[in-house]
Amino acid sequence: MNKVSRLLTGILLISLLIFSAGCSAGSLFAPKPYKETQFLMDTIIEITAYGPGSEAGTKAAFAEFKRINELTNRFDETSQVSKVNQAAGKEKVQVDPDVIAMLKLARSRSEQLDGAFDVTIGALTELWGIGHKEDFVPSDAEIQARLPLVNFRLLEIDDQANTVFLPKAGMRIDLGAVGKGYANRKAVEALKAHGVKSALVNAGGDVRIIGKRPDGQPWRLGVQDPRNSEGIAAKLSLSDWDVLETSGDYQRFFIKDGVRYSHILDPRTGYQPREVASITIVANSENHVDILSTAMLVLGVEKGRELLRQYPGTEAIFITTDGKKVITSGLEGKIEL
Ligand code: AMP
Ligand code: MG
Repeated sequence: MNKVSRLLTGILLISLLIFSAGCSAGSLFAPKPYKETQFLMDTIIEITAYGPGSEAGTKAAFAEFKRINELTNRFDETSQVSKVNQAAGKEKVQVDPDVIAMLKLARSRSEQLDGAFDVTIGALTELWGIGHKEDFVPSDAEIQARLPLVNFRLLEIDDQANTVFLPKAGMRIDLGAVGKGYANRKAVEALKAHGVKSALVNAGGDVRIIGKRPDGQPWRLGVQDPRNSEGIAAKLSLSDWDVLETSGDYQRFFIKDGVRYSHILDPRTGYQPREVASITIVANSENHVDILSTAMLVLGVEKGRELLRQYPGTEAIFITTDGKKVITSGLEGKIEL
């Protein structure tokens, strides 16, 4: 399979499997949702909305995804993130306040996450090029040479002048783990501004909901089995939570000589973490769990669980690369495994 079709296949399956189970809608007379799907931010984004304002709200929500994508897309050399990266070691660049907000959020997360998350990981993600280059495993020397360029503490953000500066040539910011959640929040705001009271937005595993379904039932979601693209590893209802975030080593990857190389890297080593195949977090939006799933895939089960305790009301499902499913205590009795 060529690169593009492999990328699309992996993403399509995520979007199919992290699904809103409209099929159990109960009644033949259940209102029909307005549904729209677009390929943006390197993933498939699907919006399902019910009731007045749903079509206009969905259009406005997609406009937000498009806008945030245009700002953050590091594969488009005209995006603001690319401009900052091109100016690394040379000069500061003025950016949109949303880029400043994303970078500040990412930096504060990086500080909390023990080196497992780093928004300046771009020098490494660019080298590996997972999903964007032919299957390529860099040499250890190449990886070691890039490690000093990954350090969020060096990032200079001026939130008065709205400028960003990467002080070392070769440094790169990567908002790949940040943009989807940020845009999803903006999308939800847009839907709400159009009066939508029942909706689900799934941005490639980064899910947010508004209210319940029109039949009063909670939204039901399936978490993809990370090693079987047709399988569902867990099913749960979003009755107590309105955010679900998944990160997995099956979302973008290649396999070479029997080894899986995925798009999530440990910024401390430059290599892929190998303990956890997928992690799904559920939370209330007040918990501000954006970005945590990426870091928890890097941290592994024990450290990840410890970290999550700092966010009350937040629960997680880990599926390890050897097939074990580990859930946090608040999910007991609330999840079908
Ligand atoms: P997600 O699928 O939301 O977990 O985001 C994964 C994306 O985040 C990757 O495609 C990279 O662009 C970026 N990324 C990978 N590893 C890290 C990391 N350790 N810290 C920050 N961003 C990362
Ligand atoms: Mg994510």
